[in-house]
Amino acid sequence: MSKLSGAGKTVGVLALQGGVSEHAELLHALGADVVLVKKSSQLEGLDALVLPGGESSTIDRLTRILDLRDALIEAISGGLPTLGTCAGLIMLSREITDPAPGQQPLGLLDVTVDRNAFGSQVASAETVLNWKSPSGESHPVKAAFIRAPRVISAGEGVEITAHYNGEIVGVRQGNLLGISFHPELCEETAVHDELLGLTGYK
Ligand code: GLN
Repeated sequence: MSKLSGAGKTVGVLALQGGVSEHAELLHALGADVVLVKKSSQLEGLDALVLPGGESSTIDRLTRILDLRDALIEAISGGLPTLGTCAGLIMLSREITDPAPGQQPLGLLDVTVDRNAFGSQVASAETVLNWKSPSGESHPVKAAFIRAPRVISAGEGVEITAHYNGEIVGVRQGNLLGISFHPELCEETAVHDELLGLTGYK
């Protein structure tokens, strides 16, 4: 895997709440220019986008307060390669089984997710998963789980890329990657490398 899969690429990290800096640092290490996205005009000209972990109901509320929600839906449904980690996966999903009051997902990734499926913060864990790459081959990926969601159902166009404790924790659908875990906390670059490999998708 190239250490510089991000060279010459500009990647946005949605920077409203949550684990923004860890993604930015990892993307910098991969050679990418990083834009911390706080307003819709910053979505223009991006090669890829990361929706970080955090608290999905808070991020959801902020996207509406800051008038970012429709712009995000437009950019991502227009083909912008996007990685959602943890709360970011919840944001991308079509349906949330246990949303916070008023919480609405962006509805772009054809999955139903269950928030906090692996227990509380104290039940957080670090492990190594088997990740199914686009070629169909599997390779190990380091993963940290923090109040992580699980995917409880996935539509036909969704490929399952990883399981943990028998639950689906990684999916791919066209330009979208959704993961329940945090590779950016484990110095794990494979999933970000895959995102950067999707640039030019649209
Ligand atoms: N449980 C959180 C939520 O509902 C996600 C946790 C995380 O992103 N680490 O948004």
